[in-house]
Amino acid sequence: MHRPALSILFLLALFIGVTLGGPKCNYCNKSIKGNYLTADSKSYHKNCYRDHVQPRCAQCNDLIEGQYNLLDEKMYHPTCYINHIVPRCDICNGPLQGTYLTDYWGNLFHDHHASELPECNTCGRWICEELTGGGFELGDGRFLCGICNETEVSGDFLLESSIAYVRRLLESNGVNNLPPDIPITLVDQRQLKELASYYSDAMHGFTDHNMQTRNGRVVSRDSHIYILSHMPLTMFRAVLAHELMHVYLFERGLDLRSDIREGFCNLGSAMVYKDTPSEYAKFRLLNLEKSQDPDYGIGYRKMTGELNRKGWSYLLETLGSIR
Ligand SMILES: [Zn+2]
Ligand SMILES: [Zn+2]
Ligand SMILES: [Zn+2]
Ligand SMILES: [Zn+2]
Ligand SMILES: [Zn+2]
Repeated sequence: MHRPALSILFLLALFIGVTLGGPKCNYCNKSIKGNYLTADSKSYHKNCYRDHVQPRCAQCNDLIEGQYNLLDEKMYHPTCYINHIVPRCDICNGPLQGTYLTDYWGNLFHDHHASELPECNTCGRWICEELTGGGFELGDGRFLCGICNETEVSGDFLLESSIAYVRRLLESNGVNNLPPDIPITLVDQRQLKELASYYSDAMHGFTDHNMQTRNGRVVSRDSHIYILSHMPLTMFRAVLAHELMHVYLFERGLDLRSDIREGFCNLGSAMVYKDTPSEYAKFRLLNLEKSQDPDYGIGYRKMTGELNRKGWSYLLETLGSIR
């Protein structure tokens, strides 16, 4: 919620009198005959007052009579104030008086729009022609704005290039020896909820692990990654990094407490966001940093602290002993 700088409506007080050679004009210092004006208990010739003393609107430069708005010691006609000085709503273009909302992207708008328009699930913009060039209802409870839709991942092409990029990024910090050819399937939110035994709104993917044992010994491990479809490329890559971190833990037989596990995997997402020079990546990283989810948010901050103290290689060595 934001409030514009305080502006109060004032009334210019003028008194008109008639004299037969009484007071002196406070502007030209000559005596006044006939009609004169009094303002601030000083007297003026009508013309002296109008041409030299009467305040002018800081917007249109015309004389101010009667009501005016004062802002930063400047005076405005009430209509000039509303039409030119008050900020405009980025959605309906109407003047924003009183309280209004802003989003991360610098848009200002009337608060009633927030309850009338759907919010984009990935960038938090309110979906409309003016802010996002429209958008889509994905049919599984999610909304995607026109801006996020431009890079959405729903097919193989971006998926393949993303796998190579994310693997390289993880390896650069020592998260390596991931098995080749891990199957990745794009799913909608309904399918994701069915796959995961536990579901949180902070989840955008799920990794199914299978382990085959013979005589009590593990003979093979398999992971299958599921990721929400239609996410913008940057977020898709961040979720892929998160899921590959799960594979890393599984391959090493590390069964961590949920906050340590999800916090650790989110370090992979953060790696992608920090490697991507865009405002969107910054926004998603901020989302991780502010999340109140006990695992994905609080766990992430706990593991960020561990990483900052230890660095990547020592963190990876000591994962199993973090409490
Ligand atoms: Zn005068
Ligand atoms: Zn004006
Ligand atoms: Zn509006
Ligand atoms: Zn969006
Ligand atoms: Zn996870």
